[in-house]
Amino acid sequence: MPERKNRKDKEKEKKNKYLFAFLIILIIAIIAISAFLIISNKDAEENKLTYTELIKQIDDGVVEKVEMTIGSTTAKVKLKDVEKEKQAIIPSTQAFVELIQEKALNGNIIELNQNPEGFLKTIGSGLFSILPTLLLLALIILMFKMQGLGDKGKVYDSETTNSKITFDDVAGLDEEKQEMMEIVDFLKNPKRFYEMGAKIPRGVLLCGQPGTGKTLIAKAIAGQANVPFISMSGSEFIEMFAGLGASRVRKLFEKAKKISPCIIFIDEIDAIGSRRTSGSGAETENNQTLNQLLVEMDGFDTEETIIVLAATNRPEMLDKALLRPGRFDRRITIALPDLRGREAILNIHAKEKKFSSEVDLRSIAEDTAGFTGADLANILNEAAIIATINDHDVITNKDIEDAVKKVTVGLEKQSRVVSEKDKRLTAYHEAGHAIVSSRLETQKDIKEVSIIPRGVAGGYTMYRTNEDKYYISKTEMEEKLVALLGGRAAEKIVLNDISTGASNDIEVATNIAKDMITKYGMSETLGPISINTEQDPYELQLLGEKFGDAIGAEVKVLLDNAYIRAQQLIHENRDKLDRVAQTLIKKEVISADEFQELIK
Ligand code: ADP
Ligand code: MG
Ligand code: ZN
Repeated sequence: MPERKNRKDKEKEKKNKYLFAFLIILIIAIIAISAFLIISNKDAEENKLTYTELIKQIDDGVVEKVEMTIGSTTAKVKLKDVEKEKQAIIPSTQAFVELIQEKALNGNIIELNQNPEGFLKTIGSGLFSILPTLLLLALIILMFKMQGLGDKGKVYDSETTNSKITFDDVAGLDEEKQEMMEIVDFLKNPKRFYEMGAKIPRGVLLCGQPGTGKTLIAKAIAGQANVPFISMSGSEFIEMFAGLGASRVRKLFEKAKKISPCIIFIDEIDAIGSRRTSGSGAETENNQTLNQLLVEMDGFDTEETIIVLAATNRPEMLDKALLRPGRFDRRITIALPDLRGREAILNIHAKEKKFSSEVDLRSIAEDTAGFTGADLANILNEAAIIATINDHDVITNKDIEDAVKKVTVGLEKQSRVVSEKDKRLTAYHEAGHAIVSSRLETQKDIKEVSIIPRGVAGGYTMYRTNEDKYYISKTEMEEKLVALLGGRAAEKIVLNDISTGASNDIEVATNIAKDMITKYGMSETLGPISINTEQDPYELQLLGEKFGDAIGAEVKVLLDNAYIRAQQLIHENRDKLDRVAQTLIKKEVISADEFQELIK
């Protein structure tokens, strides 16, 4: 097709022009910024303290205050008798805090800051100092890219592997494997299918949450059929310069045709495959990439043995054109593993690990409803790490329990200094969740209540989830809202003040309430209707302003009612709340049995 070639060349010329202009601007920017930095650095240099200097100053007792922000490596140091604050680099906040505690020095000199603004600021200034390096790097990459443009045959970025993974490495998913066996057979012996006149799906969409094993399955299909596996992630197609994304798609398919039979795997296809828009800039670029993908998939010769697998967790976002016959017309949905699936996944990942005889994988599977395959693999790996650190000969139940908590709520932050006031607040907040939950039929299965900070959470209330449920009732969702708002209700009633600690609870509750009205049709007045503004931003406009107002009102009624009920339950059970909160302040963690004892 000579016409197409012509267009390609023109496109390339245009691209080179843009690249050239961009280069010039980049060089000027580098010179300007370097000059500015040299001047401003002189001043900053005098205010720097090295880590060793800082420790020495602390030993000498001349440090008045060290102000640190969690997550940042720079700290502000205020010295006695010196007006100006100095800047010090702290390689590890935790190690530093521990060192100070070890020296049994006055801990008050450290001020830990969680202020995100300060955090951003430090990132900002950090970024500023490495800006010239970044720009230089960008320049080098750019030069490589320009060379790449002239060099037609080469393929960049996409990764070809001969997968050793087979269906034996994929646990559960028996029906899905059956379906994929068809593809494997085709890749192994395409002739038989052609002779029969059978049409094999060219594109298969794997849908499922992150961690459910989509990549694993794609690799297993390749491994099982013993064909090469070319993979690329959708986000890698998104490019700074117009046209590059499309040319990457072209090269990817060129390469595949050369080595066919093979599998092309496009991860996160929603990054390029979301609805085409009439917008400009990045959006048009995205459209071009998507168009190219459509062209390539239509352009397969009938005798080409290439299967395109794509993964996404948001199939509803994809452009309809991608799902037409001949493109991604087969869809395999990978759900969260059920009890049997979880046990099978645990068994696979337990193979090379040593466990104590008390460990029962079945009971772990029972305790981990809602976990993905990746979560489960991660838990067993963490358990092995924890067992090693604790010098155990084998992995024990306790190691696994700790690993579950580490994966779900985050690492225990034993070094975090919590004031008495915060401790009391957290204790009442968590006790509020627990007490309110204990009065609700669908929420009362509490596993543990804790005020030991983990990850970003100041404390947590853990529920038992040993039931595989496919449906959640309206009652259960309403009670979940009440349980979520129990923390805030307790703060308000007991401390007569409310804190930011409940922000995550409120966010989760609001999302549930919104889903109840707009997704599950649980509103009495609005009835069974589904509104997805993510899919179609104009849907609400179509339904009218009044309808939008009604949704807002319904969501608010759900949340208000839940909050009122939570407060009621707190009032009615005030004595129990106090008992649980006081015990939390004393012991920090309460087990399920202890909790039941306390609320008897
Ligand atoms: P996704 O691509 O859906 O985000 P991955 O395929 O990357 O998920 O899964 C991550 C890891 O989780 C895998 O490498 C594997 O160790 C584990 N895993 C997930 N699902 C399964 C499964 N069904 N059987 C065995 N391991 C699994
Ligand atoms: Mg993946
Ligand atoms: Zn809470």
